[in-house]
Amino acid sequence: MSDSPPWFKLPTHSGLAQPVSNEPSTNTSTTDNDSASDKALVIIGAGLAGCALAHTLASKGQRVTVLDSASEAASAASGNTAALLRPHITREGNLASRFSASGFLETLSVLKTLEASNKPGKRPVFHTCGALHLLERSDDYPEHPLYRHVSKQSARTLTGYPLATGGLYYPDACYVNVPVLCQLLLQHPRIDFITGIQVHSIDRVANQWQINSDKTNYQASRVVLANGTGISSFNAMQELTLQPVRGQTTRIEAPCPKLTVAVCGSHTVIPLQTDSKDQSQQLQQTQQWQISATYDRQSSNATTDHADDVANLTAAEQSLNSKDVFTAAKRTNTDPTTACSDIESHWAGVRATTPDRLPVVGHLPDFTFYHMHYHDLHHGKPEALYPDAQYQPGLYVLGGLGSRGLSVAFIAARLLAAQILGKNTGSTDDSLYTLLHPARFLIRRSKRRLSTPRPG
Ligand SMILES: Cc1cc2nc3c(=O)[nH]c(=O)nc-3n(C[C@H](O)[C@H](O)[C@H](O)COP(=O)(O)OP(=O)(O)OC[C@H]3O[C@@H](n4cnc5c(N)ncnc54)[C@H](O)[C@@H]3O)c2cc1C
Repeated sequence: MSDSPPWFKLPTHSGLAQPVSNEPSTNTSTTDNDSASDKALVIIGAGLAGCALAHTLASKGQRVTVLDSASEAASAASGNTAALLRPHITREGNLASRFSASGFLETLSVLKTLEASNKPGKRPVFHTCGALHLLERSDDYPEHPLYRHVSKQSARTLTGYPLATGGLYYPDACYVNVPVLCQLLLQHPRIDFITGIQVHSIDRVANQWQINSDKTNYQASRVVLANGTGISSFNAMQELTLQPVRGQTTRIEAPCPKLTVAVCGSHTVIPLQTDSKDQSQQLQQTQQWQISATYDRQSSNATTDHADDVANLTAAEQSLNSKDVFTAAKRTNTDPTTACSDIESHWAGVRATTPDRLPVVGHLPDFTFYHMHYHDLHHGKPEALYPDAQYQPGLYVLGGLGSRGLSVAFIAARLLAAQILGKNTGSTDDSLYTLLHPARFLIRRSKRRLSTPRPG
Protein backbone atom coordinates (compact mmCIF):
# COMPACT_ATOMS: atom_id res chain seq x y z
CA MET A 1 0.00 0.00 0.00
CA SER A 2 3.04 2.29 -0.05
CA ASP A 3 1.91 3.89 -3.35
CA SER A 4 -1.57 4.66 -2.12
CA PRO A 5 -2.56 8.30 -1.72
CA PRO A 6 -2.75 9.41 1.93
CA TRP A 7 -6.55 9.12 2.02
CA PHE A 8 -6.38 5.40 1.18
CA LYS A 9 -3.42 4.57 3.46
CA LEU A 10 -4.27 1.94 6.04
CA PRO A 11 -3.80 2.30 9.77
CA THR A 12 -0.32 1.24 10.83
CA HIS A 13 -1.60 -1.79 12.77
CA SER A 14 -3.17 -3.20 9.59
CA GLY A 15 -1.61 -6.26 8.03
CA LEU A 16 -1.70 -4.70 4.59
CA ALA A 17 0.59 -1.91 5.71
CA GLN A 18 2.84 -4.14 7.83
CA PRO A 19 5.54 -6.57 6.83
CA VAL A 20 4.29 -10.15 7.02
CA SER A 21 5.36 -12.05 10.12
CA ASN A 22 5.70 -15.81 10.18
CA GLU A 23 4.78 -15.80 13.88
CA PRO A 24 1.07 -16.27 14.50
CA SER A 25 -0.32 -13.13 16.14
CA THR A 26 -2.40 -13.40 19.31
CA ASN A 27 -5.41 -12.40 17.22
CA THR A 28 -5.13 -15.39 14.98
CA SER A 29 -4.61 -18.15 17.50
CA THR A 30 -5.89 -21.39 16.11
CA THR A 31 -6.56 -22.97 19.49
CA ASP A 32 -9.99 -23.12 21.03
CA ASN A 33 -8.58 -21.58 24.23
CA ASP A 34 -8.40 -18.07 22.78
CA SER A 35 -8.10 -15.28 25.31
CA ALA A 36 -11.18 -13.25 26.20
CA SER A 37 -10.06 -10.32 24.05
CA ASP A 38 -9.69 -12.56 21.01
CA LYS A 39 -13.28 -13.64 21.46
CA ALA A 40 -14.42 -10.05 21.36
CA LEU A 41 -15.07 -9.83 17.66
CA VAL A 42 -18.68 -9.09 16.89
CA ILE A 43 -20.33 -9.08 13.50
CA ILE A 44 -23.65 -7.28 13.29
CA GLY A 45 -25.86 -8.96 10.67
CA ALA A 46 -26.36 -12.60 9.73
CA GLY A 47 -27.07 -12.14 6.05
CA LEU A 48 -24.76 -13.37 3.31
CA ALA A 49 -22.10 -10.76 4.18
CA GLY A 50 -22.01 -11.46 7.92
CA CYS A 51 -22.16 -15.24 7.50
CA ALA A 52 -19.43 -15.31 4.83
CA LEU A 53 -17.17 -13.20 7.04
CA ALA A 54 -17.92 -15.18 10.21
CA HIS A 55 -17.11 -18.43 8.41
CA THR A 56 -13.91 -17.03 6.91
CA LEU A 57 -12.69 -15.69 10.26
CA ALA A 58 -13.67 -18.85 12.14
CA SER A 59 -11.83 -20.99 9.57
CA LYS A 60 -8.73 -18.93 10.34
CA GLY A 61 -8.99 -19.61 14.07
CA GLN A 62 -10.86 -16.48 15.17
CA ARG A 63 -13.79 -16.68 17.59
CA VAL A 64 -16.75 -14.67 16.35
CA THR A 65 -20.09 -13.57 17.76
CA VAL A 66 -22.77 -12.79 15.18
CA LEU A 67 -25.75 -10.70 16.25
CA ASP A 68 -28.96 -10.36 14.27
CA SER A 69 -32.28 -8.70 14.99
CA ALA A 70 -34.21 -11.51 13.28
CA SER A 71 -34.94 -14.98 14.65
CA GLU A 72 -32.77 -16.74 12.04
CA ALA A 73 -30.03 -16.08 9.52
CA ALA A 74 -30.74 -14.72 6.02
CA SER A 75 -34.00 -13.04 6.95
CA ALA A 76 -33.55 -9.86 4.92
CA ALA A 77 -32.02 -9.41 1.42
CA SER A 78 -30.40 -12.85 1.69
CA GLY A 79 -33.73 -14.66 1.86
CA ASN A 80 -33.62 -15.63 -1.83
CA THR A 81 -33.82 -19.41 -2.20
CA ALA A 82 -32.70 -19.35 -5.84
CA ALA A 83 -30.19 -16.54 -6.38
CA LEU A 84 -28.03 -16.74 -9.47
CA LEU A 85 -24.27 -16.90 -9.10
CA ARG A 86 -22.39 -15.75 -12.17
CA PRO A 87 -19.49 -13.36 -12.75
CA HIS A 88 -20.10 -9.87 -14.18
CA ILE A 89 -17.35 -9.46 -16.72
CA THR A 90 -17.16 -6.29 -18.79
CA ARG A 91 -15.82 -5.65 -22.30
CA GLU A 92 -12.91 -3.69 -20.83
CA GLY A 93 -11.94 -6.48 -18.43
CA ASN A 94 -11.05 -3.84 -15.82
CA LEU A 95 -10.22 -4.40 -12.15
CA ALA A 96 -13.89 -4.53 -11.13
CA SER A 97 -14.41 -7.20 -13.78
CA ARG A 98 -11.45 -9.23 -12.52
CA PHE A 99 -12.76 -8.82 -8.97
CA SER A 100 -16.09 -10.30 -10.06
CA ALA A 101 -14.47 -13.20 -11.91
CA SER A 102 -12.24 -14.04 -8.93
CA GLY A 103 -15.17 -13.60 -6.57
CA PHE A 104 -17.27 -16.00 -8.63
CA LEU A 105 -14.57 -18.67 -8.43
CA GLU A 106 -14.08 -18.17 -4.69
CA THR A 107 -17.80 -18.51 -4.01
CA LEU A 108 -18.03 -21.58 -6.23
CA SER A 109 -15.18 -23.19 -4.32
CA VAL A 110 -16.90 -22.49 -0.96
CA LEU A 111 -20.20 -23.88 -2.28
CA LYS A 112 -18.56 -27.10 -3.45
CA THR A 113 -16.83 -27.60 -0.10
CA LEU A 114 -20.02 -26.95 1.85
CA GLU A 115 -22.08 -29.20 -0.42
CA ALA A 116 -19.59 -32.01 0.09
CA SER A 117 -20.07 -31.73 3.87
CA ASN A 118 -23.85 -31.26 3.64
CA LYS A 119 -25.66 -34.23 5.15
CA PRO A 120 -27.43 -36.58 2.70
CA GLY A 121 -31.12 -35.74 2.35
CA LYS A 122 -30.57 -32.10 3.35
CA ARG A 123 -31.64 -29.30 1.03
CA PRO A 124 -28.89 -28.75 -1.54
CA VAL A 125 -26.95 -25.48 -1.37
CA PHE A 126 -26.70 -24.97 -5.12
CA HIS A 127 -27.55 -26.36 -8.57
CA THR A 128 -25.41 -25.79 -11.63
CA CYS A 129 -27.68 -24.57 -14.44
CA GLY A 130 -25.40 -22.44 -16.66
CA ALA A 131 -26.44 -18.94 -17.67
CA LEU A 132 -26.80 -17.20 -21.00
CA HIS A 133 -26.20 -13.45 -20.77
CA LEU A 134 -28.10 -11.90 -23.67
CA LEU A 135 -26.22 -9.12 -25.47
CA GLU A 136 -26.98 -7.09 -28.59
CA ARG A 137 -23.30 -7.39 -29.40
CA SER A 138 -20.88 -9.76 -27.74
CA ASP A 139 -18.16 -9.97 -30.39
CA ASP A 140 -16.17 -7.17 -28.75
CA TYR A 141 -15.96 -9.07 -25.47
CA PRO A 142 -12.53 -10.64 -25.06
CA GLU A 143 -12.09 -14.39 -24.84
CA HIS A 144 -12.45 -15.54 -21.23
CA PRO A 145 -12.19 -18.96 -19.58
CA LEU A 146 -15.47 -18.40 -17.70
CA TYR A 147 -17.71 -17.89 -20.76
CA ARG A 148 -18.01 -18.64 -24.42
CA HIS A 149 -19.52 -16.56 -27.20
CA VAL A 150 -22.86 -17.80 -28.49
CA SER A 151 -24.48 -16.69 -31.75
CA LYS A 152 -28.21 -15.93 -31.97
CA GLN A 153 -28.83 -19.26 -33.67
CA SER A 154 -26.86 -21.22 -31.07
CA ALA A 155 -28.65 -19.34 -28.29
CA ARG A 156 -31.99 -20.37 -29.79
CA THR A 157 -30.87 -23.98 -29.96
CA LEU A 158 -29.54 -23.83 -26.41
CA THR A 159 -32.76 -22.48 -24.94
CA GLY A 160 -35.50 -23.64 -27.31
CA TYR A 161 -36.80 -20.02 -27.44
CA PRO A 162 -36.71 -17.61 -30.43
CA LEU A 163 -34.24 -15.29 -28.72
CA ALA A 164 -33.54 -11.94 -30.40
CA THR A 165 -29.80 -12.04 -29.73
CA GLY A 166 -26.94 -14.28 -28.78
CA GLY A 167 -24.57 -13.46 -25.97
CA LEU A 168 -22.17 -15.00 -23.52
CA TYR A 169 -22.72 -18.44 -22.05
CA TYR A 170 -21.41 -19.14 -18.54
CA PRO A 171 -21.49 -22.94 -18.14
CA ASP A 172 -20.58 -22.94 -14.42
CA ALA A 173 -23.24 -20.46 -13.33
CA CYS A 174 -25.54 -21.88 -10.67
CA TYR A 175 -28.44 -20.95 -8.49
CA VAL A 176 -28.02 -20.94 -4.75
CA ASN A 177 -30.33 -21.38 -1.81
CA VAL A 178 -28.93 -18.45 0.17
CA PRO A 179 -30.68 -19.20 3.50
CA VAL A 180 -29.35 -22.78 3.42
CA LEU A 181 -25.90 -21.42 2.57
CA CYS A 182 -25.99 -18.96 5.48
CA GLN A 183 -27.11 -21.63 7.94
CA LEU A 184 -24.28 -23.92 6.88
CA LEU A 185 -21.74 -21.10 7.13
CA LEU A 186 -22.72 -20.39 10.73
CA GLN A 187 -22.32 -24.03 11.77
CA HIS A 188 -18.80 -23.67 13.08
CA PRO A 189 -17.56 -24.30 16.62
CA ARG A 190 -15.92 -20.86 16.77
CA ILE A 191 -19.13 -18.99 15.82
CA ASP A 192 -21.73 -17.92 18.39
CA PHE A 193 -24.91 -16.80 16.68
CA ILE A 194 -27.29 -14.72 18.80
CA THR A 195 -30.70 -13.87 17.37
CA GLY A 196 -33.29 -11.27 18.34
CA ILE A 197 -30.73 -8.53 19.02
CA GLN A 198 -31.65 -5.23 17.38
CA VAL A 199 -28.53 -3.08 17.61
CA HIS A 200 -29.42 0.60 17.73
CA SER A 201 -26.02 2.26 18.27
CA ILE A 202 -22.31 1.64 18.76
CA ASP A 203 -20.21 3.82 21.06
CA ARG A 204 -16.51 4.03 21.83
CA VAL A 205 -16.17 3.46 25.59
CA ALA A 206 -12.80 2.92 27.30
CA ASN A 207 -10.96 1.61 24.23
CA GLN A 208 -13.74 -0.82 23.40
CA TRP A 209 -16.84 -0.68 21.29
CA GLN A 210 -20.07 -0.82 23.19
CA ILE A 211 -22.85 -2.32 21.11
CA ASN A 212 -26.17 -1.05 22.40
CA SER A 213 -29.23 -3.13 21.66
CA ASP A 214 -32.82 -3.26 22.76
CA LYS A 215 -31.95 -6.16 25.12
CA THR A 216 -28.31 -6.73 26.07
CA ASN A 217 -25.31 -4.44 25.52
CA TYR A 218 -22.11 -6.07 24.28
CA GLN A 219 -18.49 -4.97 24.47
CA ALA A 220 -15.92 -5.87 21.85
CA SER A 221 -12.55 -4.62 20.69
CA ARG A 222 -13.49 -5.29 17.05
CA VAL A 223 -16.87 -4.86 15.43
CA VAL A 224 -17.95 -5.40 11.83
CA LEU A 225 -21.04 -3.74 10.40
CA ALA A 226 -22.55 -6.29 8.02
CA ASN A 227 -26.17 -5.46 8.53
CA GLY A 228 -27.20 -4.63 4.96
CA THR A 229 -29.50 -1.65 4.62
CA GLY A 230 -29.38 -1.25 8.42
CA ILE A 231 -25.77 0.03 8.24
CA SER A 232 -26.95 3.51 7.20
CA SER A 233 -28.97 3.89 10.39
CA PHE A 234 -25.78 4.10 12.48
CA ASN A 235 -24.18 7.43 13.20
CA ALA A 236 -22.16 8.91 10.26
CA MET A 237 -22.64 5.84 8.05
CA GLN A 238 -24.53 7.88 5.46
CA GLU A 239 -21.04 8.68 4.10
CA LEU A 240 -20.91 5.10 2.79
CA THR A 241 -23.59 6.18 0.26
CA LEU A 242 -25.64 3.00 0.58
CA GLN A 243 -28.91 3.21 -1.31
CA PRO A 244 -31.80 0.82 -0.53
CA VAL A 245 -33.33 -0.76 -3.65
CA ARG A 246 -36.37 -2.97 -3.34
CA GLY A 247 -36.69 -6.09 -5.49
CA GLN A 248 -39.14 -8.94 -6.00
CA THR A 249 -38.77 -12.38 -7.53
CA THR A 250 -41.65 -14.39 -9.01
CA ARG A 251 -41.82 -18.17 -9.18
CA ILE A 252 -44.06 -19.84 -11.74
CA GLU A 253 -44.81 -23.26 -13.19
CA ALA A 254 -42.56 -23.52 -16.27
CA PRO A 255 -44.29 -23.23 -19.66
CA CYS A 256 -43.07 -25.25 -22.65
CA PRO A 257 -40.44 -25.53 -23.88
CA LYS A 258 -38.56 -26.05 -20.64
CA LEU A 259 -35.26 -24.25 -20.20
CA THR A 260 -31.94 -25.95 -19.62
CA VAL A 261 -30.03 -22.74 -18.82
CA ALA A 262 -30.78 -19.51 -16.98
CA VAL A 263 -31.43 -16.62 -19.37
CA CYS A 264 -30.23 -13.18 -18.28
CA GLY A 265 -31.81 -10.27 -20.08
CA SER A 266 -33.11 -7.20 -18.25
CA HIS A 267 -34.39 -9.80 -15.75
CA THR A 268 -33.17 -13.35 -15.22
CA VAL A 269 -35.20 -16.49 -15.82
CA ILE A 270 -33.81 -19.36 -13.76
CA PRO A 271 -35.04 -22.92 -14.42
CA LEU A 272 -35.41 -24.70 -11.07
CA GLN A 273 -35.38 -28.45 -10.76
CA THR A 274 -38.06 -29.47 -8.30
CA ASP A 275 -39.09 -32.94 -7.23
CA SER A 276 -42.78 -33.75 -6.85
CA LYS A 277 -44.78 -36.96 -6.46
CA ASP A 278 -47.42 -38.01 -8.98
CA GLN A 279 -50.68 -39.84 -8.11
CA SER A 280 -48.89 -43.17 -7.72
CA GLN A 281 -46.37 -41.52 -5.38
CA GLN A 282 -43.63 -41.83 -8.00
CA LEU A 283 -41.01 -39.11 -7.76
CA GLN A 284 -41.21 -36.77 -10.77
CA GLN A 285 -38.86 -34.03 -11.83
CA THR A 286 -40.84 -30.90 -12.68
CA GLN A 287 -39.65 -27.45 -13.55
CA GLN A 288 -40.46 -24.08 -12.11
CA TRP A 289 -39.00 -20.77 -13.22
CA GLN A 290 -37.85 -18.07 -10.92
CA ILE A 291 -37.91 -14.67 -12.58
CA SER A 292 -35.57 -12.23 -10.90
CA ALA A 293 -36.00 -9.38 -10.14
CA THR A 294 -37.63 -5.96 -10.04
CA TYR A 295 -35.38 -3.01 -9.14
CA ASP A 296 -37.14 -0.15 -7.39
CA ARG A 297 -35.01 2.72 -6.06
CA GLN A 298 -38.09 4.51 -4.77
CA SER A 299 -39.01 1.88 -2.22
CA SER A 300 -37.46 0.11 0.75
CA ASN A 301 -40.55 -1.92 1.49
CA ALA A 302 -40.04 -5.69 1.48
CA THR A 303 -43.69 -6.73 1.04
CA THR A 304 -44.61 -8.50 -2.18
CA ASP A 305 -46.99 -6.98 -4.68
CA HIS A 306 -48.82 -8.07 -7.80
CA ALA A 307 -47.52 -5.23 -9.99
CA ASP A 308 -44.00 -6.57 -9.52
CA ASP A 309 -45.08 -10.06 -10.57
CA VAL A 310 -46.53 -8.58 -13.75
CA ALA A 311 -43.32 -6.62 -14.35
CA ASN A 312 -41.27 -9.81 -13.89
CA LEU A 313 -43.44 -11.88 -16.20
CA THR A 314 -43.45 -9.18 -18.89
CA ALA A 315 -39.67 -8.88 -18.69
CA ALA A 316 -39.31 -12.67 -18.98
CA GLU A 317 -41.47 -12.66 -22.12
CA GLN A 318 -39.27 -9.94 -23.58
CA SER A 319 -36.04 -11.74 -22.73
CA LEU A 320 -37.32 -14.96 -24.29
CA ASN A 321 -38.78 -13.01 -27.24
CA SER A 322 -42.02 -14.91 -26.71
CA LYS A 323 -45.11 -12.80 -26.33
CA ASP A 324 -48.07 -13.81 -24.19
CA VAL A 325 -46.47 -16.83 -22.52
CA PHE A 326 -47.77 -15.57 -19.20
CA THR A 327 -51.06 -13.94 -20.18
CA ALA A 328 -53.08 -15.93 -17.65
CA ALA A 329 -50.66 -15.31 -14.83
CA LYS A 330 -50.54 -11.59 -15.54
CA ARG A 331 -54.28 -11.01 -15.41
CA THR A 332 -55.13 -8.22 -13.07
CA ASN A 333 -57.02 -9.04 -9.97
CA THR A 334 -57.18 -6.79 -6.97
CA ASP A 335 -57.46 -9.64 -4.49
CA PRO A 336 -53.84 -10.52 -3.73
CA THR A 337 -54.71 -14.02 -2.49
CA THR A 338 -56.17 -15.04 -5.83
CA ALA A 339 -54.33 -12.61 -8.09
CA CYS A 340 -52.22 -15.18 -9.88
CA SER A 341 -53.16 -18.77 -9.38
CA ASP A 342 -50.42 -19.69 -11.88
CA ILE A 343 -47.81 -18.02 -9.75
CA GLU A 344 -46.26 -20.45 -7.30
CA SER A 345 -44.75 -17.91 -4.97
CA HIS A 346 -42.97 -14.62 -4.80
CA TRP A 347 -40.45 -13.03 -2.49
CA ALA A 348 -39.27 -9.45 -1.92
CA GLY A 349 -36.18 -7.99 -0.29
CA VAL A 350 -34.25 -4.74 -0.12
CA ARG A 351 -30.70 -4.60 -1.44
CA ALA A 352 -28.08 -2.17 -0.12
CA THR A 353 -26.51 -0.78 -3.30
CA THR A 354 -23.64 1.61 -4.02
CA PRO A 355 -23.21 4.09 -6.91
CA ASP A 356 -20.46 2.00 -8.58
CA ARG A 357 -22.06 -1.40 -7.88
CA LEU A 358 -19.10 -2.51 -5.80
CA PRO A 359 -19.31 -3.33 -2.11
CA VAL A 360 -17.81 -1.22 0.67
CA VAL A 361 -15.20 -3.28 2.47
CA GLY A 362 -12.60 -2.38 5.06
CA HIS A 363 -11.66 -0.36 8.11
CA LEU A 364 -14.22 2.32 8.79
CA PRO A 365 -12.73 5.73 8.10
CA ASP A 366 -12.93 8.50 10.68
CA PHE A 367 -15.24 10.55 8.49
CA THR A 368 -14.81 13.70 10.61
CA PHE A 369 -11.06 13.53 9.94
CA TYR A 370 -11.70 12.94 6.24
CA HIS A 371 -13.97 15.98 6.00
CA MET A 372 -11.48 18.14 7.83
CA HIS A 373 -8.39 17.14 5.84
CA TYR A 374 -9.54 15.98 2.41
CA HIS A 375 -12.31 18.46 1.60
CA ASP A 376 -10.20 20.35 -0.95
CA LEU A 377 -8.83 17.61 -3.19
CA HIS A 378 -10.29 19.48 -6.18
CA HIS A 379 -7.51 22.08 -5.74
CA GLY A 380 -5.01 19.53 -7.02
CA LYS A 381 -2.42 20.10 -4.28
CA PRO A 382 0.44 17.55 -4.14
CA GLU A 383 -0.56 14.40 -2.25
CA ALA A 384 2.44 14.76 0.04
CA LEU A 385 0.82 17.81 1.65
CA TYR A 386 -2.02 15.71 3.05
CA PRO A 387 -1.86 13.71 6.29
CA ASP A 388 -2.37 9.95 6.27
CA ALA A 389 -5.92 8.71 6.72
CA GLN A 390 -7.36 7.97 10.14
CA TYR A 391 -9.79 5.19 10.93
CA GLN A 392 -12.12 4.12 13.72
CA PRO A 393 -9.98 1.65 15.69
CA GLY A 394 -11.31 -1.88 15.37
CA LEU A 395 -14.43 -0.88 13.44
CA TYR A 396 -15.03 -2.39 9.98
CA VAL A 397 -17.72 -2.59 7.33
CA LEU A 398 -18.78 -5.25 4.84
CA GLY A 399 -21.79 -3.91 2.99
CA GLY A 400 -23.26 -2.64 -0.25
CA LEU A 401 -23.40 -6.10 -1.82
CA GLY A 402 -26.15 -4.83 -4.10
CA SER A 403 -27.63 -7.22 -6.66
CA ARG A 404 -24.53 -9.38 -6.92
CA GLY A 405 -24.07 -10.52 -3.38
CA LEU A 406 -23.05 -14.06 -4.26
CA SER A 407 -20.16 -13.17 -6.53
CA VAL A 408 -18.66 -10.66 -4.09
CA ALA A 409 -19.39 -11.96 -0.58
CA PHE A 410 -16.56 -14.45 -0.16
CA ILE A 411 -13.77 -12.54 -1.85
CA ALA A 412 -14.79 -9.45 0.14
CA ALA A 413 -14.90 -11.53 3.33
CA ARG A 414 -11.40 -12.84 2.65
CA LEU A 415 -10.02 -9.35 2.03
CA LEU A 416 -11.63 -8.01 5.17
CA ALA A 417 -10.52 -10.98 7.28
CA ALA A 418 -6.95 -10.26 6.15
CA GLN A 419 -7.27 -6.67 7.37
CA ILE A 420 -8.86 -7.67 10.66
CA LEU A 421 -6.36 -10.40 11.42
CA GLY A 422 -3.36 -8.42 10.22
CA LYS A 423 -2.26 -10.67 7.39
CA ASN A 424 -0.73 -9.35 4.20
CA THR A 425 -2.83 -10.29 1.20
CA GLY A 426 -0.42 -9.56 -1.65
CA SER A 427 -0.25 -6.92 -4.37
CA THR A 428 -3.43 -7.80 -6.30
CA ASP A 429 -5.51 -7.56 -3.20
CA ASP A 430 -3.96 -4.20 -2.34
CA SER A 431 -5.47 -2.69 -5.48
CA LEU A 432 -8.78 -4.34 -4.62
CA TYR A 433 -8.59 -2.76 -1.20
CA THR A 434 -8.55 0.71 -2.81
CA LEU A 435 -11.32 -0.31 -5.24
CA LEU A 436 -13.59 -1.20 -2.30
CA HIS A 437 -12.45 1.47 0.16
CA PRO A 438 -15.37 2.73 2.29
CA ALA A 439 -14.34 6.38 1.82
CA ARG A 440 -14.08 6.25 -1.98
CA PHE A 441 -17.34 8.10 -2.62
CA LEU A 442 -16.42 10.89 -0.24
CA ILE A 443 -13.00 11.18 -1.95
CA ARG A 444 -14.56 11.18 -5.44
CA ARG A 445 -16.95 13.94 -4.42
CA SER A 446 -14.08 16.02 -3.07
CA LYS A 447 -12.07 15.58 -6.29
CA ARG A 448 -15.06 16.27 -8.54
CA ARG A 449 -15.52 19.77 -7.21
CA LEU A 450 -12.73 20.63 -9.68
CA SER A 451 -15.22 20.55 -12.53
CA THR A 452 -17.72 22.82 -10.78
CA PRO A 453 -17.34 26.29 -12.30
CA ARG A 454 -16.38 28.88 -9.72
CA PRO A 455 -18.85 31.74 -9.29
CA GLY A 456 -17.79 35.00 -11.00
C1 LIG B 1 -35.05 -9.48 -5.03
C2 LIG B 1 -33.57 -9.76 -4.91
C3 LIG B 1 -32.97 -10.64 -5.79
C4 LIG B 1 -31.59 -10.88 -5.70
N1 LIG B 1 -31.02 -11.77 -6.56
C5 LIG B 1 -29.71 -12.03 -6.47
C6 LIG B 1 -29.10 -12.98 -7.34
O1 LIG B 1 -29.75 -13.62 -8.16
N2 LIG B 1 -27.75 -13.18 -7.24
C7 LIG B 1 -26.98 -12.51 -6.31
O2 LIG B 1 -25.77 -12.71 -6.27
N3 LIG B 1 -27.54 -11.61 -5.48
C8 LIG B 1 -28.88 -11.36 -5.54
N4 LIG B 1 -29.45 -10.45 -4.68
C9 LIG B 1 -28.56 -9.69 -3.81
C10 LIG B 1 -28.17 -10.45 -2.55
O3 LIG B 1 -29.26 -11.15 -2.06
C11 LIG B 1 -27.63 -9.44 -1.55
O4 LIG B 1 -26.54 -8.75 -2.10
C12 LIG B 1 -27.17 -10.08 -0.26
O5 LIG B 1 -28.08 -11.01 0.21
C13 LIG B 1 -26.94 -9.01 0.80
O6 LIG B 1 -26.48 -9.62 1.97
P1 LIG B 1 -26.16 -8.75 3.26
O7 LIG B 1 -25.70 -9.69 4.29
O8 LIG B 1 -25.29 -7.61 2.90
O9 LIG B 1 -27.57 -8.09 3.68
P2 LIG B 1 -28.85 -8.76 4.34
O10 LIG B 1 -29.13 -10.09 3.78
O11 LIG B 1 -29.93 -7.73 4.24
O12 LIG B 1 -28.44 -8.99 5.85
C14 LIG B 1 -28.44 -7.99 6.81
C15 LIG B 1 -28.78 -8.64 8.14
O13 LIG B 1 -28.60 -7.67 9.17
C16 LIG B 1 -29.67 -7.75 10.07
N5 LIG B 1 -29.79 -6.41 10.67
C17 LIG B 1 -30.09 -5.25 10.03
N6 LIG B 1 -30.02 -4.24 10.89
C18 LIG B 1 -29.70 -4.76 12.10
C19 LIG B 1 -29.51 -4.18 13.38
N7 LIG B 1 -29.58 -2.88 13.59
N8 LIG B 1 -29.18 -5.00 14.41
C20 LIG B 1 -29.07 -6.35 14.22
N9 LIG B 1 -29.26 -6.94 13.02
C21 LIG B 1 -29.56 -6.15 11.96
C22 LIG B 1 -30.86 -8.19 9.25
O14 LIG B 1 -31.82 -8.86 10.03
C23 LIG B 1 -30.21 -9.10 8.23
O15 LIG B 1 -30.24 -10.45 8.64
C24 LIG B 1 -30.82 -10.21 -4.72
C25 LIG B 1 -31.43 -9.35 -3.82
C26 LIG B 1 -32.79 -9.12 -3.90
C27 LIG B 1 -33.45 -8.20 -2.90
